[in-house]
Amino acid sequence: MKSTIKIKLPYRKELIETMQQYSYSANRVIDFGWNIQTNNKRELHDLTYYKIREETNLPAQLVCSSRDKAVEVLKTSKFKHSKPIMKKYLTIRYDARSFALENTKECYYVSLSTIYRRIKIPIEIPEYYWKYLDWKVCSADLIYNRGLFLYIVFSRDIISPKISDGFLGVDVGINNIAVTSDKRFFNSKQIKRKKLMFKRLRAKLQSKGTRSSKRLLKKLSGRENRWMTWVNHNISKEIIKCKEGTIVMENIRGIRSNKGKRFNFWLHSWSYYQLQSFIEYKGFINGKRIIKVNPYHTSKSCSRCGELGSRSKGFFVCSHCGYSLNADLNASFNLAKHHSISDGVSVPVTVPDIQAYEHKGSSSAIACEPMDKIHPL
Ligand SMILES: [Zn+2]
Repeated sequence: MKSTIKIKLPYRKELIETMQQYSYSANRVIDFGWNIQTNNKRELHDLTYYKIREETNLPAQLVCSSRDKAVEVLKTSKFKHSKPIMKKYLTIRYDARSFALENTKECYYVSLSTIYRRIKIPIEIPEYYWKYLDWKVCSADLIYNRGLFLYIVFSRDIISPKISDGFLGVDVGINNIAVTSDKRFFNSKQIKRKKLMFKRLRAKLQSKGTRSSKRLLKKLSGRENRWMTWVNHNISKEIIKCKEGTIVMENIRGIRSNKGKRFNFWLHSWSYYQLQSFIEYKGFINGKRIIKVNPYHTSKSCSRCGELGSRSKGFFVCSHCGYSLNADLNASFNLAKHHSISDGVSVPVTVPDIQAYEHKGSSSAIACEPMDKIHPL
């Protein structure tokens, strides 16, 4: 089981220069490999290692790591077309020998090999990500893309517990972000209010069009995303507390429907994919099985008799047996009975790309803003 957190680092000349030499080194290896048409690691090591140590100030591990990158590129190129060229600021793959996440009493910091020496940069890890800190740190990618970012990969072993019985249906939607078949409602009222606030602020800033308003806009969208991620984390955490062993969700493509502008605004503005992927991976760690089913008829069938019914104002009414209930709850009941719906496909668990916060110096982390607690109805 792996998880990645993304941390923004302050601009450091040493890191940028190291990326350049790292790129130079990888390109040298590609040159050698290309000339004699080999992608053999051992061979390329013997041919290039000492040369590159002489030509650059890269420490040994980074020479090897850049060579590995070059070898990968050579392998994919299959020596067809033109010789690949690495970009100027090549993403550096750090491993346990060239990178460490350490802490003192006061703070966490990362230590990274550079062409000068090892440098230490203090970072703040928001409380939300502390859970990863007792995982094993595997590797880190240093990326230069409108700023320096470090993607730290953590891993831990999964002991898969015995999966208990029962199916929990989870319907995601507009009126309620999620409704579960054990009758929990995660309603979207507060979320909608806050989204609207963001929307208004955005419109206001866009109409100004000054440079400072553009900067604010960017900041705002980061804030909104972090908030949305935070809410999705919370909802998914609550959902997987269910007693059922299997969680059934819709294959989400189905909910992209055409029900008017306002409806679509909510659909596209909430990250349902993210919510589902959080449920998947949190469920996975907690020994749940995840099943995704074709949403066809999930919301149109009666969960009691299976006949078609109609929806109006958030209610489902069965035209056959007269059963009537909250439409989303009806859908979640149908999902829980997933075995009656065809196309039930068990999906592999995807690991979400978890974004940490933007790092601002060492003093202030932008923590996710607390939103009012999400109350089930
Ligand atoms: Zn019915």
